Amino acid sequence: MSILTFHEVSYQNILHELTGEFREGVITTLVGPSGAGKSTTLKHINGLISPDTGEICFRGEPLEQMNLLDVRKRIGMAFQSAPMIPGTVYDNINLPKSIFGESLPREEAEKLLQQVELSVELDRPVKDLSGGERSRLGIARTLVNRPDVLLLDEITASLDYRMVQEIEKLILDLQQELQTTIIWITHDLEQAKRVSDDVWFLKDGRLIEYGAFKELASSGQAETQAFLKGESV
Ligand code: ADP
Repeated sequence: MSILTFHEVSYQNILHELTGEFREGVITTLVGPSGAGKSTTLKHINGLISPDTGEICFRGEPLEQMNLLDVRKRIGMAFQSAPMIPGTVYDNINLPKSIFGESLPREEAEKLLQQVELSVELDRPVKDLSGGERSRLGIARTLVNRPDVLLLDEITASLDYRMVQEIEKLILDLQQELQTTIIWITHDLEQAKRVSDDVWFLKDGRLIEYGAFKELASSGQAETQAFLKGESV
């Protein structure tokens, strides 16, 4: 069953009539060359930008008719750089609550850190964390509101290979445990092969193909075959 559907979504001269869907409870990677429109697509999903024409529906309801704060609670987003505010680990994991004037109980914060296998003190200054630790904290922070959908924008791009493997395993484990729908931008085809159930393949702002990753291999499209071989498309 699909959780998100795009119907002829166009935006400026960047996205052109994207029509496709994302299945609930699986990992879909967004792949394609740089400048294909992957980040712009992700920004549409959490309401950072809206289509000029066309419609995006979340569980059948047009995103534009939903309350934006509600959208942000149900659709979380983690970035490569995992931007942190100055202060402690707790200050950062509490951020999604503090912007609503609430605060996250410390024991819940501890549980989230365990969930992402980050063993640091809540009072530790965030500036002392390594790149891998910041990535984990960034992921924990997106889980605070228990989102239905998790958007990941190149979250492993700046990490070394060992850390990439660890973060991939973490996301796969979280997905199994929480059954969260994950939409994951990656420029790394090997990573897409390892983690994808489904895939959206974008190029020049167009959705060339989407569906089960395994089925891409039998696609008759020359662009898809070239992409899968790692050739520039
Ligand atoms: P990808 O994530 O696949 O690399 P992007 O979605 O970041 O692609 O960008 C798609 C295209 O849109 C690129 O040509 C980029 O230069 C352009 N673009 C991205 N953001 C903006 C913006 N805010 N204003 C104008 N053009 C933009």
